[in-house]
Amino acid sequence: MARYTESKCRICRREGTKLFLKGDRCYTDKCAYERRAYPPGEHGRARKKHSDYAIQLREKQKVRRMYGLLEGQFRKYFDIADSRKGATGENLLILLEKRLDNVVYRLGFANSRIQARQLVRHNHIAVNGRRVNIPSYIVKEGDVVSVLEKSKKMLLFQEAQDVLARRGAPGWVDVDGNELKGTIKATPVRDDITFPINEQLIVELYSK
Ligand code: SF4
Repeated sequence: MARYTESKCRICRREGTKLFLKGDRCYTDKCAYERRAYPPGEHGRARKKHSDYAIQLREKQKVRRMYGLLEGQFRKYFDIADSRKGATGENLLILLEKRLDNVVYRLGFANSRIQARQLVRHNHIAVNGRRVNIPSYIVKEGDVVSVLEKSKKMLLFQEAQDVLARRGAPGWVDVDGNELKGTIKATPVRDDITFPINEQLIVELYSK
């Protein structure tokens, strides 16, 4: 399967924001973006005037990389979002939030979305008591996402409470840190996504 091998910190620097792709390190002073908050490369610090297209493209790339998706996958989500009622940009972000790997990350069971995806793929996660190893699985209201019994002893899951204390969980999930499970209380809404995103720029880019 295709995947990106570029340094994750370079991605943050290029997109001009912290995307929290490396887990714990992102919260320390070792964060590359904290040290060098300008784009990578020889001309990274040069002042550039960006066209509308470049601004739209960067916003799309930022969101796509934050959720760790390839272009084709991201475009499919956009098309689904566009076919639904309501604002396309909001629909897109809500769809991305409901991916199982993102939910595992939001519940504090993983340090990053990349790690969350690996945990799902490696059979550590269940939905409603049944193992699910598809990171793109879309959760729905009432679903219970949990760590499988055999995996609960893993150090990573033992530390989940600390991760959650540092990051906090969004209002649309109810987390039981002792039992390592979370219930989807409601469908996320746009206001639940506090990371600065201008989704309208993505809509404009794909509408050209
Ligand atoms: Fe981005 Fe994390 Fe690297 Fe900082 S440490 S640049 S937030 S991936």
